[in-house]
Amino acid sequence: MRTFLLENCTIVSLDDEGTIIDDGMVVVRDGLIERVEAVPEDPEELEDLEADILDDDGEVVDGDGKILMPALFNGHCHAAMTFERGWAEDLPLDRWFNERIWVAESALQEEDVLWGARLAACEMIRSGVVGFNDHYFYMDRVAETVRDSGMKAGLAWCVFGIGKDKEVGADLAGTLEFVERWRTAATASDDDEASDGADRIRPVLGPHSPYVCPPEFLGEVAAAARDRNLPLHIHVAESPGQVEQCRERTGRTPVGLLAERGILDGVVTLAHGLYLDGDDVALLKERTGVTVARCPITYMKLAMGTTDVSALVEAGVALALGTDGPGSNNDMDMFAVARTFALLQKHVTGDATAAAGDLPLRLATRGAARACGFPESGVVAPGRPADLILVDFERPHLRPVHDVVANLVHCVRGGDVTDVWCNGRRLLDEGELVTMDEAEILAEASVRARTMVGQPLRMVREYRE
Ligand SMILES: [Zn+2]
Repeated sequence: MRTFLLENCTIVSLDDEGTIIDDGMVVVRDGLIERVEAVPEDPEELEDLEADILDDDGEVVDGDGKILMPALFNGHCHAAMTFERGWAEDLPLDRWFNERIWVAESALQEEDVLWGARLAACEMIRSGVVGFNDHYFYMDRVAETVRDSGMKAGLAWCVFGIGKDKEVGADLAGTLEFVERWRTAATASDDDEASDGADRIRPVLGPHSPYVCPPEFLGEVAAAARDRNLPLHIHVAESPGQVEQCRERTGRTPVGLLAERGILDGVVTLAHGLYLDGDDVALLKERTGVTVARCPITYMKLAMGTTDVSALVEAGVALALGTDGPGSNNDMDMFAVARTFALLQKHVTGDATAAAGDLPLRLATRGAARACGFPESGVVAPGRPADLILVDFERPHLRPVHDVVANLVHCVRGGDVTDVWCNGRRLLDEGELVTMDEAEILAEASVRARTMVGQPLRMVREYRE
């Protein structure tokens, strides 16, 4: 059932004008938003509309006491790293990689990715996230999770280009096969049921980073992306050491190297991009396909230093927010990320007016949706996909409501979300997950994660600055 009338709610549309409608209603037909307006004053008019929706086999949903807003998207993450939640605590970036994360991942099984992604899907849907931009291994298992959960995702199979024995599950040729498998399924039909949900999946190429991938390999990936018209998703410039090392090896900054190798020519998500100089920002400004995805909780937890986005904002570079992997966040609550982004931006700039108003929400909705490959999502407006959530405001930490946007940025928690729709299909129904067997997933994921980190450990590659 993808046709419904949501009535009596406050609508925070996040459209260009920032429209807020106090006693609003939204009509959704066949998964698309048809009308967004105030509830008609004439009760008969509303009754006629309700009857019309019911005649169309639709549903009438009462949103009294709730806020309706665009569903959130997660602009950069590693969903299956739910298995490493709480496994790599209180460590700097190099030790985090070398002693815990890459060691645990040396025991990673394909089935672990399936259950790790399923666990992440439950968590994300519960906190109002309908789409994510994932960068990991064995991505067919993540694609199956996206298909079955009813979510949307941009999916990159991470490759290193430093020798076949160091790749996890596939080299570049293997990841291109992954892309073709899911692209073919997606273009088979626009209809969700006929395509089995593959139209909600955007496969992309995922070279790990300029600090692991050799420059020649980056050029090879860029050429493959250009030939096939594929987006890219890559980590870049996370520390001063990475920038220094890149300059020594190549004579360029990491962003300069990516530009030179053609990685920035098309549509690309740059995860992090923390240490950028003026030339880097100028390069990004010229490339309209670039989105920089920031994950502020990871930066604070791993003490990664500067996080100011002012230069990127001033240059008009597209921004998104993400959680990063739960090995460094440690959860996937995009409301927490939006709030942390706002607080951190004020803190680092010493300017309380920074990241004001609905900007943090926009970066967690429209901005992140663009990074995931769904630029039409992230706004409540006619003609857009019905990617929507209801947030219960009948809670003490959300009253009074002097400023609904301020409460959404600074007070809402993921657990306040009661209902979630993706393309008009309900994924969370008054707090109940519709598409996921949560009890089974919690049990299986807990056992498998424990087994994975308990495996005999072996070093697969080394992070060094
Ligand atoms: Zn990452």
